[in-house]
Amino acid sequence: MTRTQQTPLLPPVGDATAANVFMTVLTRGPIARSEIAYTLGLSAGTISRSTKPLLEAGYLIEDGAADNSRPGRPTMPLRVVAEREFVIGVKLTGDHLVGVVVDLLANVRASREVSLTATDVDSVVAALAGLVAQLRLAVDGPITRLGVGLGGHVDPAAGTVRYAPFLDWRDVPLARILSAATGLPVVVENDVNALTVAEQWFGAGIDVPSFAVVTIGAGVGCGLVLNGGLVHGASGLAGELGHIPLDPAGPPCPRCGNTGCVEAAVADSAIVGRITQASGRDGLDILAAAQLARTGDAAAAAAFTAAGQVLGRALATVANLLNPNRIILSGEGLAASDLFETAARQAFYTHAYGSAGDCELLTRPLPDDTWARGAAAVAIQHLFVARAPGR
Ligand SMILES: [Zn+2]
Repeated sequence: MTRTQQTPLLPPVGDATAANVFMTVLTRGPIARSEIAYTLGLSAGTISRSTKPLLEAGYLIEDGAADNSRPGRPTMPLRVVAEREFVIGVKLTGDHLVGVVVDLLANVRASREVSLTATDVDSVVAALAGLVAQLRLAVDGPITRLGVGLGGHVDPAAGTVRYAPFLDWRDVPLARILSAATGLPVVVENDVNALTVAEQWFGAGIDVPSFAVVTIGAGVGCGLVLNGGLVHGASGLAGELGHIPLDPAGPPCPRCGNTGCVEAAVADSAIVGRITQASGRDGLDILAAAQLARTGDAAAAAAFTAAGQVLGRALATVANLLNPNRIILSGEGLAASDLFETAARQAFYTHAYGSAGDCELLTRPLPDDTWARGAAAVAIQHLFVARAPGR
């Protein structure tokens, strides 16, 4: 059966249990029913009842079931049918969009990038709809869902962007608007949370129950997975590491106006501002600032070191509060890691309390594609919990 002849797409099958079963097969398959039951702490009967509609709808298959001489047995491992449907993931920034089409195993089948010429909601939605149209042509199969990741405070349960500083958006019901523009169900998520899901499924978070992804660059972001679950908090705001007040004597935060926020010391603009203040040099950007530091400018080097010290204290805060197995440091700010990483690690180990300091600190540059893939992975997670958004 070719994909174009596939049966019409069904609405999400099953309930929260079916969703958990599907995710277990997706992340660990091929996997036997008995192992799914053990992993989820459910009875064999429950697993049979949950997998049946997923098998019938073509989302799961018994591994080897295509061999007609060997009829399926209850112990035959299950795997996800990757090409059952496709999902689009988009990373939305202040100046461009990166989109990918993935199959149900989150394998990237195509990617596209477009520049944004304006950041008002109508212009961005039009650009996003255009990108989705391009990506629809890139695969031969049904695209059923769209996930969008962007920086700022996103309430995924409501599908609303509460505040996106890089776009200057407040209270934009983006999921609803995009759904009307594309005809697809849409999930909106904070971009670092989406990246964190990507790391949990197929990156450096795959083998640990609890980890944090901290991103640095224009801002400071943080995604948290605790005991296997992404942490949203009450309204999607969990992980605002950038606005943890670490230094009462620190500079005012350009984003929130408070004093001593992590972001006010670690963000690119903070580093550049410190150099400008110390040396009187004007018109620097973060690349020029890094170049200056590398060529021996003491004020520039000190600015990166100071940022590294605050970053290290922020990472120790994460470790002391949540005791993750691992902290993954990423974001475009890593381009200057040679200038701050030593100071950050020193501050981290100084302030990490007891065995919180056993937490592994990993630096991992991740391309835009990975962020977009994370947004698609979030959309896949919502495949079977459409009636309970935000889970
Ligand atoms: Zn702040």
